[in-house]
Amino acid sequence: MFKLAENISAVRAEIHRTAQAAGRSANTVMLLAVSKGQPVEAIAAAVAAGVCDFGENQVQEALQKMAAFSHECLRWHFIGAVQSNKTRAIAEHFDWLHSLDRLSIAERLARQRPSGMAPLDVCLQVNIDRESTKAGVDPDQLEALALGVVALPALRLRGLMAIPRPRAVGDQRQPFRELASLLARLRATSPRFAGLDTLSMGMSADLDAAIAEGATIVRIGRAIFGPRPDLQPHR
Ligand SMILES: *Cc1c(COP(=O)(O)O)cnc(C)c1O
Repeated sequence: MFKLAENISAVRAEIHRTAQAAGRSANTVMLLAVSKGQPVEAIAAAVAAGVCDFGENQVQEALQKMAAFSHECLRWHFIGAVQSNKTRAIAEHFDWLHSLDRLSIAERLARQRPSGMAPLDVCLQVNIDRESTKAGVDPDQLEALALGVVALPALRLRGLMAIPRPRAVGDQRQPFRELASLLARLRATSPRFAGLDTLSMGMSADLDAAIAEGATIVRIGRAIFGPRPDLQPHR
């Protein structure tokens, strides 16, 4: 945990270097620190190092952590599988949802988002490698889902998210390029999609490839926090 500030500087430097190499400004890439499985002390250290965005994939665990930071101006992102009995807590407590892949869940979230809160920022998770065991909407069904979601005023459709299957470093760019082109195609189909500006892609092992292909949010866990201390299931 004492290395945390160092790790964050290293990740920021990597984002900067890769963005520049791609002809992009580093401030077009948001660093989302994936704090799932990490204690509040680790989050506090990241906050002290200037991180504002945190990703969690278990609702109960996240709510406990939020309570410890109620005075900080942090943004909480839900990145895990959404069970329908957890939508209310997500609607009431999170700023972003990256893993939306079903209209029925979107409709619940929209009903449950408190009217005094800003719309919930959402990304549609795409099953970019069409793996039968993976979450995410099939690319062929993406437009239909997007049309349903963009019609819900309590949600703000921001873009697409994917978790490609692991690949050798030299092969990592292709699924990200595909996700970027799905977003471009979607934006071209209707003016209702003109506000979509987000590609949530890239983790510790493949952030360079993701940034080279246009990632606007990278979701980084291990490169910041080190190995997760618990054994909870995660991707
Ligand atoms: C755990 C997780 C990450 C972070 O993965 P690391 O390899 O630790 O960087 C990113 N996105 C999602 C959806 C995750 O579940």
